[in-house]
Amino acid sequence: MTSSSVRVALRIRPLSPQEHASGETECVTQLPGVPQIVIGADRAFTFDYVFSPEVSQEQIYDDSIAPLVDQFLQGYNATILAYGQTGSGKTFSMGTGLTISATQPELQGSLDVSFLELYNEDLVDLLNPRSPSAGSSGGRGPTIREDSRGNMVLVGVERKVAAGEDDIITYLHQGALSRTTASTDMNHTSSRSHAIFTIYLTQQDRRSSLMLSNASGVEASELDSGMSIVSKIHFVDLAGSERIKRTGAAGDRAREGISINAGLLALGNVISALGSMTAAAPGAASLGPGGHPARRGTMHVPYRDSKLTRLLQDSLGGNSQTLMLACISPSDRNSPESLNTIRYANRARNIRNKVAVNFDKNSSVELSMLKTEVARLRGELSKLKLQRRQSTLTLNGADCDVSLSVAVRKNADLTQRLEHALRRAAELEHERNLLRIRVAELGGSNASTPNIPPASLPDFAAPTASDDSGPRSNDGGGGDVMSQSNVLSTMDRELSEQAERHEHQIDSVRRHFMSRLELVQESLLVVQKERD
Ligand code: ADP
Ligand code: MG
Repeated sequence: MTSSSVRVALRIRPLSPQEHASGETECVTQLPGVPQIVIGADRAFTFDYVFSPEVSQEQIYDDSIAPLVDQFLQGYNATILAYGQTGSGKTFSMGTGLTISATQPELQGSLDVSFLELYNEDLVDLLNPRSPSAGSSGGRGPTIREDSRGNMVLVGVERKVAAGEDDIITYLHQGALSRTTASTDMNHTSSRSHAIFTIYLTQQDRRSSLMLSNASGVEASELDSGMSIVSKIHFVDLAGSERIKRTGAAGDRAREGISINAGLLALGNVISALGSMTAAAPGAASLGPGGHPARRGTMHVPYRDSKLTRLLQDSLGGNSQTLMLACISPSDRNSPESLNTIRYANRARNIRNKVAVNFDKNSSVELSMLKTEVARLRGELSKLKLQRRQSTLTLNGADCDVSLSVAVRKNADLTQRLEHALRRAAELEHERNLLRIRVAELGGSNASTPNIPPASLPDFAAPTASDDSGPRSNDGGGGDVMSQSNVLSTMDRELSEQAERHEHQIDSVRRHFMSRLELVQESLLVVQKERD
């Protein structure tokens, strides 16, 4: 942020034909070659610019307004504030003096305009005159709010998109017409209300941004991230500053006058507070939280005393390049009012604003975060789509991609093999039981001459016994029985061992298949869920 003084231009209008006719004379003179005037006999005042009656609108624009417009185009906020008594030339200067085409550089951005009137402390949207004013019965018209950064924002005010200079001028005239027709019963419509015409510019021009980086100290890389710059320029046509008794107002007019003067009085107090603070401690002025200048040092700045001062909070003491265009009549008859205006304007010269280019950092950071999030989500979506198309899944983190059809086939195969294994296990169990019975029978016949028919022995269980079966065994002596018994006990042992081995094998086969089956069923479930 850099410090920028409020600049003041004094414009002296020519004597009107009526003033000439009534013999009024000029009481203000400009000193040659310097921006200084003398009012009355010897009261001298210095300003940033002095425009004598013969100076044209174009020259005023080139000298004092064009530098502000230039700053506005570079991303700074700007304000042009016309102040002075009724009939001093405020509207003449502001209403038709808006020609930014003369020095307008190539513009790459979007323009919006709003036109607001503050009348009797009510805000009226001049570009949407049918909208209710804040003060009307039950109406929710434009209001002034403070954003999180302490800047003043207007809520409920229509912003019209302007394609270029022609649109801007059209809206200016359209709003000015509403201003007049809204109060046909008044003689001095425009002098009863304050009007603020605002142009908003949103830019993303890399070229001008890089130029800005030198001026504002912002790194060029920061600008490359697509940051936008939002600036605004206010054209403020204030109500007449004359005193009520001078207008001879009564009743409604007097109330208007009181309200107008209350706003201008509050404005004067704000100017005094800001000006005297800077005068007391030059360079010591600092902005409060969020750049909000409600309090500086120990001095209170009474922005909240009126809507006008709240509206102009950024323009006076805040983030804005500001020019006060003080308009006076040269007539000696108006000399007291002109002196008031000159004093008022002179104090404004002491105000130091803190200006900075309005980079919309939040939106840029938010935008890039959103872009990253969108890219991430897109990646995930396409990954999911691919997975779905191939019906693939990953199990237990292993690289085991099983398609749905493969899983179904494997499941059927394993189930079949398991059934076969279980059948075989049952057969083996049965055979083992038969052998046990046979061994028991043989053991019994050995002790008490058994008569079990040898044919009941299964062939595979005792091949040697089968050879010795038949009448010979029945006729056999004690040695035969002994050797047969030995053979049988060996067979029994072998059978037991074999049965045990089988049992073991069956168990492990069952376990193996059961676990494979579980795995496949699990994968089936996942694939079915994915498919649904
Ligand atoms: P204000 O808005 O301050 O009440 P106006 O802008 O309406 O005053 O000006 C009052 C009258 O003086 C208007 O008729 C206007 O045309 C005329 N006037 C003001 N300034 C000039 C000027 N610089 N040159 C010629 N006429 C002017
Ligand atoms: Mg006017």
